[in-house]
Amino acid sequence: MKEPINIFWFKRDLRLLDNEPLNNAVSQKEKLLLIYCFEPSLKKNKHYTSKHWNFIKESINDLNIYLKNIDTHIHTYNKEFTDVLKEIQDKFLVKKIFSHNETGLNITFERDILLKEYCKENSIQWEEEINNGVFRGLKNRKNWIKKWRDHMNSPVVLFKGEKNDFINIKKNQNLKVKNSKILQKGGSSSGIKYLDSFLDTRHTKYQNNISKPEASRTSCSRLSPYMSWGNISTRYAWQRAKEQIQNGKSKFQLNGFTSRLRWQAHFIQKFEMECQMEFRSVNKGYQNLVKPINKKFISAWQKGKTGYPLVDASMRCVVETGYLNFRMRALLVSFLTHHLWQPWQSGVIHLARNFLDFEPGIHYSQFQMQAGETGINMIRIYNPTKNAKEHDKDGIFIKKWIPELKKIPTPLLFEPWKMSLIDQETYDYKIGKDYPNPIVDISETYKYAASKLWRIKSNPKVKEESSRILQKHTNTNRKAFDD
Ligand SMILES: Cc1cc2nc3c(=O)[nH]c(=O)nc-3n(C[C@H](O)[C@H](O)[C@H](O)COP(=O)(O)OP(=O)(O)OC[C@H]3O[C@@H](n4cnc5c(N)ncnc54)[C@H](O)[C@@H]3O)c2cc1C
Repeated sequence: MKEPINIFWFKRDLRLLDNEPLNNAVSQKEKLLLIYCFEPSLKKNKHYTSKHWNFIKESINDLNIYLKNIDTHIHTYNKEFTDVLKEIQDKFLVKKIFSHNETGLNITFERDILLKEYCKENSIQWEEEINNGVFRGLKNRKNWIKKWRDHMNSPVVLFKGEKNDFINIKKNQNLKVKNSKILQKGGSSSGIKYLDSFLDTRHTKYQNNISKPEASRTSCSRLSPYMSWGNISTRYAWQRAKEQIQNGKSKFQLNGFTSRLRWQAHFIQKFEMECQMEFRSVNKGYQNLVKPINKKFISAWQKGKTGYPLVDASMRCVVETGYLNFRMRALLVSFLTHHLWQPWQSGVIHLARNFLDFEPGIHYSQFQMQAGETGINMIRIYNPTKNAKEHDKDGIFIKKWIPELKKIPTPLLFEPWKMSLIDQETYDYKIGKDYPNPIVDISETYKYAASKLWRIKSNPKVKEESSRILQKHTNTNRKAFDD
């Protein structure tokens, strides 16, 4: 007779602390097998790169350090989860699978539907829990905020796994990782360090520096990759921040942080309910917006060679470090979709690949919002030069990422194409040779984009769709499997 066991399937929840389904799994009478699958279908999906896989490996190695104390580890496979499950079934009677609900790309949703069917056919019970206050199967978002608050106020779940709760079917091997001095290191231990230092000291200028590309790198929490890969639960971070406010730390600064934790779930919940936005504009009325593809423009944007220093510095920085503050992300999208008049689809994957914190729900919602294609948000066409003067006034960020401009002082640095011949000689710089000339004239492109976007926003079809979105009576796409 085969031994009955249960499986815990780690997904974007690579943590032990505040992992509800994991705790449900260890409290069963059957032994528990811990699994993570580097699924080939996802590894070749174009949203992901080695940056992400390395972060995941670091996160698993970090968990295994703790799990070693209770004689177990996460079993990793370079196979699809269903194939691994079938192999395990050859030797064991798999009774239950535990995991979080995954609000992911269509590819993972489709996989989960097939897996659910397989589980039914094989009498395996798959128990899924909500993750970070995002709910499956909601008909509308009317009472969502209350549900989210209740979740955030409920107690953090402490890990209670013990030595004899687990089964191991292969040896633990430390996963090979590429150590980087530039990218944030994966793992709950690292995430907790970022949280601690943010709550202790770094938060004191959070709201003041949030839009500044350089200062935000230390004043913001930098928790996004740890939230996106689940090294830390948002509930844990939220409760720790509220605690610090009670202990006398700045309410103004930390409330700014906790409200962003709400946005995190808000955008993922939107994606959960309107997952078609992976493929089409949130507001269907924008599907007829014509934006001819210009490969030269897209390539210049991707390479950080548009001739606009803040745009180029932001792109080069995110490609190298995997991180960029919110405003510069918005600026990159606005530049591509408004000034270069390119479809949002031409840039959404490039940034997903480069954001270490790539989170489908936030990414697709924000990308479309900044592209002005929701019909309900304010249209913001960012001026890269004005933003540089306001948020990088000493040019520190620009000089760091565009060495070609290092010798040029501010304010010349912000518009190098305007330098006189004398200036060029003084600073040993040649316009258009050392650094590209602007690929578009933003005063012209601003007028063009603004008139087009305002015209389409007042189109009756777009307006009708906007009011449907505003009512939040959206149809659920991702129905609860068990409905
Ligand atoms: C086009 C675009 C794409 C984006 N893609 C992603 C993405 O793939 N993954 C991602 O985590 N964030 C994304 N963001 C949101 C935001 O820019 C990052 O979450 C933030 O910059 C991360 O820095 P931080 O951890 O220091 O944030 P903090 O300011 O310290 O905020 C704390 C946490 O709140 C959440 N958060 C902060 N800002 C937002 C926001 N505007 N919307 C939703 N959640 C937020 C994040 O989980 C973040 O870690 C995107 C923004 C834009 C404009």
